[in-house]
Amino acid sequence: MATVGHNTGHFDVEKVRADFPILDEPLPSGQRLTYIDNAATTQKPSAVLEASDGYYRHANANVHRAIHTLSQRATQQYEATRDRIAAFVNAASRDDVVFTKGTTDGINLVAQSFVRPRLAEGDEIVLTEVEHHSNIVPWQLIAEATGAQIVVVPVGDDGSIDAADFESRLGPRTKFAAFAHIANAIGTRLPVEAMIEAAHKRDVPVLIDGAQAIAHQPVDLQALSPEFYVFSGHKVFGPTGVGALIGKADYLQAASPYQGGGDMIDTVSFAGTTYNDVPYKFEAGTPNIAGVAALGAAIDYTNKLDLTAVAAHEHELLKSATAAIEEMDGLHIIGTTPDKAGIISMVMDDVHAHDIGTLLDESGIAIRTGHHCAMPLMARFGVSATARASFAAYNNQADVDALIKGLHSIQRIFG
Ligand code: PMP
Repeated sequence: MATVGHNTGHFDVEKVRADFPILDEPLPSGQRLTYIDNAATTQKPSAVLEASDGYYRHANANVHRAIHTLSQRATQQYEATRDRIAAFVNAASRDDVVFTKGTTDGINLVAQSFVRPRLAEGDEIVLTEVEHHSNIVPWQLIAEATGAQIVVVPVGDDGSIDAADFESRLGPRTKFAAFAHIANAIGTRLPVEAMIEAAHKRDVPVLIDGAQAIAHQPVDLQALSPEFYVFSGHKVFGPTGVGALIGKADYLQAASPYQGGGDMIDTVSFAGTTYNDVPYKFEAGTPNIAGVAALGAAIDYTNKLDLTAVAAHEHELLKSATAAIEEMDGLHIIGTTPDKAGIISMVMDDVHAHDIGTLLDESGIAIRTGHHCAMPLMARFGVSATARASFAAYNNQADVDALIKGLHSIQRIFG
């Protein structure tokens, strides 16, 4: 792996790009790839590809079961990732880290295992209007099953969520609150510190959806102190199909098992079963071992990048792109809070978002168009779709220039 040495205060984006083989691979048209769809998924550095390959080549066996060499090797790789994640997010203990399939899986786990058994008719779960469907629908499912209600904190015209408004919606029936660290569709950084503090004043446990934060800013869970934090591996330069839930020990211990199966038990008999300790209680069945091993490499890689430097770099790209877009007539940005993350959601007068996406793709530019799994947010802003560009550590000014050039040419085509 190329040296990433960015802790020097100088962020060398070209060095970072060299770690990602796909960025150097010309498209079938021969064009340079401009990959700015990072809110959907991130590309993978060689170290992650090698870790996945290396597991299957040299360590392929099940974890926690056999005593043979390969099984020990597989278990060592699997458990080493737990240590790395715990250190990366400053969790209180490695045992607070549960492997999941991703953000969606983590939210469903918390909803079904911790929240649902504690809900009665008329209880309330507080969400915000900027949430991804995966932080809405799992709560609707348990509300429907128990007669609980969903309370929604509305988004402001600039895409902001107001912590005081959130606080005002917490009442005697509030049993849980869940909200994004960063909103995927428009990039808003939610005031999570103030929101968590307000919830804790009323003994309301909190889940933070960290899908969009994990590769873009440092996360310190002991400072933030949410009861549950979830993220996906594929958003942090790791593989798909794997992620983590980090929970406070007493909350994880109090939660019921999510799925039953191998590895999550202590003893099984037809008279009754006892469960394994946390976190294994939540890891039923053969897990995504290669995915976890590769996620460990992704976490190592991201750690070396220095997320404070990454955040500053992405902010520069955001500023540059935003200034150019604001100069264009007929192009409007949804989500304009000053401290937002590197995500730009746009609508163009008289041009459908999908046409923008198709035309940009013809120039080798990958953005996301659609509702971004945030239909309530789209409805709030009176649109059915936006065109979204989202930056990551490996994006550079050439990517911004390509986007702006592409948008100008679309405007020329549509006159
Ligand atoms: N929440 C947010 C904020 C997201 O951006 C995403 C992915 N777009 C998800 C949840 C769902 O993540 P996954 O599909 O990896 O489970």
